Amino acid sequence: MELSTRIRQVVGGNGDDGWSVYYRARDMMAAGKPVVMLTIGDHDIKTDGAILDAMKASMAAGNLGYSPVTGSLALRTAIAARVGAAGTVTTPDNVLVTPGGQAALYAAMIATLDAGQSCIVLDPFYATYLQTVRAASARPVIVPTRADEGFQPDIGAIEAAIAPDTRAILINTPNNPTGAVYRRDRLAALAALCRARGIWLISDEVYDIQIHAGEHVSPRDLPDMAGRCLVVNSLSKSHAMTGSRLGWVLGPEDAIARIAELATTTTYGVPGFIQDAGVFALTEGDEIERGIAARYARRRQVALDALGNGPGYRAVPPEGGMYLMLDIRETGLSGVAFAERLLDEEAIAVMPGESFGHATAGHLRIALTQPEAALGAALGRIAAFASGLVAG
Ligand code: PMP
Repeated sequence: MELSTRIRQVVGGNGDDGWSVYYRARDMMAAGKPVVMLTIGDHDIKTDGAILDAMKASMAAGNLGYSPVTGSLALRTAIAARVGAAGTVTTPDNVLVTPGGQAALYAAMIATLDAGQSCIVLDPFYATYLQTVRAASARPVIVPTRADEGFQPDIGAIEAAIAPDTRAILINTPNNPTGAVYRRDRLAALAALCRARGIWLISDEVYDIQIHAGEHVSPRDLPDMAGRCLVVNSLSKSHAMTGSRLGWVLGPEDAIARIAELATTTTYGVPGFIQDAGVFALTEGDEIERGIAARYARRRQVALDALGNGPGYRAVPPEGGMYLMLDIRETGLSGVAFAERLLDEEAIAVMPGESFGHATAGHLRIALTQPEAALGAALGRIAAFASGLVAG
């Protein structure tokens, strides 16, 4: 039986996007071969025991029935307080709880885009972005950022890409994969563009507390933006809760009320005991959250120190997030070819930059998801491998 055009178009034909390195590494590990895994953004750190205790207590108390579709008032209040600290008036009615940031991204697309309309996506992009736009029957329009500009949004290029059918611009700061933290002046220019052209700004801020340099600015907090901005966030990265699937979308009250109607037809809410764990994490988990961010800041430094400066590669010091980009264009290999060889010859798995678009071709994205000693040793070997390619 024929399936809908929509579902058949979710995954476009992206050719070899380098994800084979990740799948191959997983197969090697399953076959018992030791591989240093520095690919996807899943923590090696486990969810803190105190958060799990809150989850277990909620289960033991029988919180296992349907929960409010919008999210519990306690959780939405905690999220509103966290967000409102920046000064923009935020109430629980501005928040809808979702199963992770990904469901929030999907909800934001469905809420802003009609079939056939377009959403501007900056290249490089997080792995699900194009598919999420297409899942809304809309069209991603890709606008590159440039390595020599620190992968900051190119406002002129974005403006030039705006067409009559453009309804939204999707951004991600701190950025996955580049580690760029978008500067206030660029965000202000982007906000001005959205205001002038009547376009939604969808801001994915799942790495917002992992800042190593500069400041995190949420475009929602810029003048006259709260009414045209949907913010996506989650506890996946901040509290090492990827598997709990707890996120949210934040926006104007009327939009959130509509998105709640969508949630009724898709997820029907997030388990109550997960939400209670989220309330604990947000109200009493400051130290846990700061500890995780500090750990990634230390690992970033360990990684940069282990890499040093050598022929064949150049580290792009991340300003935020849990990844580091390595520019290996000098070796003459593509990111895919380099990563395949690194896996075969050194048993180290990293993501090729090509997995995230064209702007990071000839780069590697290295997830800082190993303890310091193992990470430092692996990066030393990657540096030697790159230098060896140039020498040989
Ligand atoms: N946005 C970005 C930029 C991400 O890196 C991720 C996860 N890797 C997500 C969204 C989705 O996060 P979640 O686990 O909360 O669904």
